[in-house]
Order: sequence, then structure tokens, then C-alpha cells
Amino acid sequence: MSASYQPAEILADAGVSDSPSHWVDGRSWVPEKTSRVDVEDPATGRVFAAVAAGGPDEVDFAAVAAHAAYHNVWAPMPPARRGALLQLLAGRLLDEQEPIARLESLDTGKPLSQARGDVAVAARYFAYFGEAADKLSGETFWAERADLSYTVREPYGVVAQIIPWNSPITQLARGVAPALAAGNTVVVKPSELAPISPLVLGRLIREVGIPDGVYNVITGLGDIAGAALTAHPLVRQITFTGSVQTGKRVLASSAEHLAHCTLELGGKSPTLVFDDADVPAAARAAAAALIRNAGQSCSATTRILVHESVHDQLLDAVITRVSGLKLGPGLTDPDLGPLVSERQLNRVLQLIGTATAEGARIVVGGGRAEGEGIVDGYFCEPTVLVDVTNDMTVARQEIFGPVQSVLRFSDEEEALAMANDSAYGLSSAVFTRDFARAHRLARLLQSGQVHINEYPLDSVETPFGGYKESGIGREKGLQALAGYTQLKTVLARVAAASD
Ligand code: NAD
Repeated sequence: MSASYQPAEILADAGVSDSPSHWVDGRSWVPEKTSRVDVEDPATGRVFAAVAAGGPDEVDFAAVAAHAAYHNVWAPMPPARRGALLQLLAGRLLDEQEPIARLESLDTGKPLSQARGDVAVAARYFAYFGEAADKLSGETFWAERADLSYTVREPYGVVAQIIPWNSPITQLARGVAPALAAGNTVVVKPSELAPISPLVLGRLIREVGIPDGVYNVITGLGDIAGAALTAHPLVRQITFTGSVQTGKRVLASSAEHLAHCTLELGGKSPTLVFDDADVPAAARAAAAALIRNAGQSCSATTRILVHESVHDQLLDAVITRVSGLKLGPGLTDPDLGPLVSERQLNRVLQLIGTATAEGARIVVGGGRAEGEGIVDGYFCEPTVLVDVTNDMTVARQEIFGPVQSVLRFSDEEEALAMANDSAYGLSSAVFTRDFARAHRLARLLQSGQVHINEYPLDSVETPFGGYKESGIGREKGLQALAGYTQLKTVLARVAAASD
């Protein structure tokens, strides 16, 4: 296939080269000798860039720069001024929405309109946390021994942000915006599979006047650059977004120097559809889980638990929605782009194979997608599996691809037990017209978010994070801002001490 777009032009429009350097202390920087990691266009399998492969020395350089900026300029800056700079950054991101969205679409394979939405959400994070920067406050207490007792929230210092490949610009902004608003400085390690937009952000950060060293990016491999960052003694807080397996390694590494850790990990989020549900709305949500990032989303609801009396009605509606989906390179703005890599595609196809071997039936899709314009990339057919039971591998493992599993239940108790019978607990959805049931289940479902009668409904303002193996800590909302601070208690003797 010859792509109808030119990666070189997309990189140039976004202001980066095809062999970008790290971003440290307000400039592009790379040591004289560096190895590089190739970056592929998942729609064609062709390499279009090669980023610098950082290691312990590069991480140390960035951490030292971030530490100096924290002490000398960023933490001492009045919070209102910090917030104003972050709001300027939100505006600059929106100015550059199109070139960054095109780059993000090229890098991740996601449809261009979804990438545009991601840049807008990233801008919203900087606006929201910029506005909140001067609203952090403490409390005062009556205390048995002190005359005056109050708390203040202070930044940690250098914060590490390790992000995945599915939505780099939003994942980055989700952590970087509150971390900076609270007065920390950051070192970012993007995924080697989609590493470029965090480097573009460096330039915008400089342009709006955020001081050098406040924002730094080291590209490279997870096991080398990522591991060096989590182990660095100047890093006092780590936010990791990625797989459970890597999350456990990050937590173990952070324990070595007792850095605080927020983990945003995977999910196997259930949707419960009851006999009184708005079935078309539930079907729309079930299809959306496959469409958004081709199912490569941590909060994708890929287990549809449906009451037996509306099972066939829901299934027909899902099949209708999923069958007509158009696949293509993200930059042609199809319904679904490719998966991020050949490895990811093979993993998804293998899980579909395991599902059928364990007794599930494919009613839509099921294979590698082929056809005009999609012969070379990592395209997977949107797939619907029925006769899935909760003990099957496909119902238990995160799939991270456009695969929906449909399971039946006969009453509320069974639905709840199935929903909670998972190692994960990131998000869940309930479709019912029964108000009491919806809120009863909202209390009983073991997940960090519960959405009622639509999915997804979350946004920058609403706390997000996992129960069980889906993670530790919360991002988004004002809770996230507080999460990038440590609490100090001040205890004072005010009255004159008597002998
Ligand atoms: P991954 O765990 O393979 O990699 C994530 C990041 O960690 C990458 O930047 C990688 O380079 C880095 N890394 C790898 N090994 C490391 C190590 N030893 N030390 C430090 N860093 C290391 O995950 P992925 O494949 O990039 O992303 C997919 C996973 O991310 C899925 O499980 C998905 O559910 C999860 N995810 C979660 C959220 C959320 O908010 N909960 C959002 C998006 C993705």
C-alpha cells in the first residue's frame, strides 16, 4: 500500500525531526553517541522515525535538571503564576491541535478525529489544573497539646511520568498538569511505541515561558530508560500508566528508595445490561468500546453481561453497529485504525483463537483485516464473541484490541457476582431504568468508576483509578492535584509557656 500521507511532512509540521533528541532543561539534547529505537507507522509497518535510546546517564542528567528547576524556580513561584503559565500552555496546545493530532494519529494509528479529541482533552487538563493551582489549601485542627495546628500541602520535588502508547498526549497531560500545578517538576518517559508528541510539548512549554528544567523527556526502552527513572534517587514520586506486569516492577523499584507511587493499570471492565435497559444505548456503548483506539483503552468495556431476556436484541444491535465499521490508516479518519504493533495484533488474534478453542463463537470478524488500503498494517477486524463464560481466558485477560465478549446472566445477583469476579476493577457500566438498582449496584461493584446508562461519561474533573489489580491512587479531578503533594502538619505553642 502506498500511504496517501507523508510522515516526513507530518513530523515537520509538528516541529520535530525524524531522529529527535531527548528534551532536557528547555532544549533538545542528546549525547554525542546514542543508539536509537525505530518508530513504526502501524498503518503500514514502515519505520518513519528513530528516537534516542536513553539510559541511566541521560536519566540522571534530566533528573538533576528537574531537581535544580524545582528548587530554584518552580516551587518558589507563586501558585497563581504557575497556574497562569499552565493555562497559556492549554491555549498553545489548542493552537497546534491539528499538527499534533496528525502526529499522534501517525504514531499510534488512531483515527484523526479521535486524535484531535485527545489534544483537546490534553489542553483541558492544563486549563483545569492551571486554574486549580492556587486553590490548594490545608486545614486547621483543635489539638490536645498544640495551641495552633494546621496542615500545608507541599510538592514532592521531581516526579517521574511513565506513559503508555495508546493516548500519549492525554496520558501525559493527565499526570504532568496536576504535578506541575502543585509545584513539582517532571521527567517523562514515553512508550517506545509512540514516543514523539511528548517531545513536541517541550517546545510549547518553552514558548509559553515555563522555566527550563521544569519539563523533561527521556525517550528509550522501558527496561532501560524507564527502569533507570524509577530507580533514580532524586525522583520522589512516580506515576506509571501501563500494564499490571510492568506496574509491579515499577512498584518494586520505587520501594528501593521509598518513592511514592501512583499506578494506573489495566482493566476488564464489565457492562451490565438489564431487562429494563435502553438496549440501543447499551449497544452503542458496546460498539464504542471497540471503536475508541481500536479497543486499546484501559477502560474499554470488553465484557458485556446481558440479561437473558434481552440478549438477542442487544446482540443484533451490536452486530449491526460493528459490522458496518470502516477500517483504514488513522490519518484517513476511518472508524477504526490499526493496532499499535504486530506484536499487539498477534496477541489479540491469539486471544480470539483461545476464546473459540474454549467454546466461544465468533459472530462478527475474528481475524486480521485485509482489503483495499489496509494490506500492510496491523489491522484487526472488529470482533464480537458470544457464548462467552466468565471463566474463559477472553473474559479474564485484558485484550487491548477491538474484541467484544457477550455473556448472559439471569438475575441481578448473578450479574454482580460475574462483574466482580475479576482480578481487575477499573471501571464498570450499568444499563437499567431502575434507579434503585442502578445505585445499589454502584455501591456493590468493585471498580474505581461506575457509569450509569451511558459509557463513557468520565472527564478531566472526575477522579479515575483502579480497585484491585487495576491500580493504586487516583488521577483526574482535584484528588489528583492533592495526590501530587505531601501533607505537612505544623504544631505551634502560641501562649507563653509557664515553668
Ligand atoms: P507497558 O507496561 O508495556 O509499558 C508502559 C510504559 O512503561 C512504557 O513507557 C514502557 O516503556 C515503560 N516500561 C516498560 N518496562 C519498564 C520498566 N521495567 N520500568 C519502567 N518503565 C517500564 O504498557 P503498554 O503496553 O505501553 O500499555 C498498555 C497497558 O497500559 C494496558 O495494560 C493498559 O490497560 C494500560 N493503560 C492503563 C491506563 C489507565 O489509566 N489505567 C491508561 C492507558 C493504558
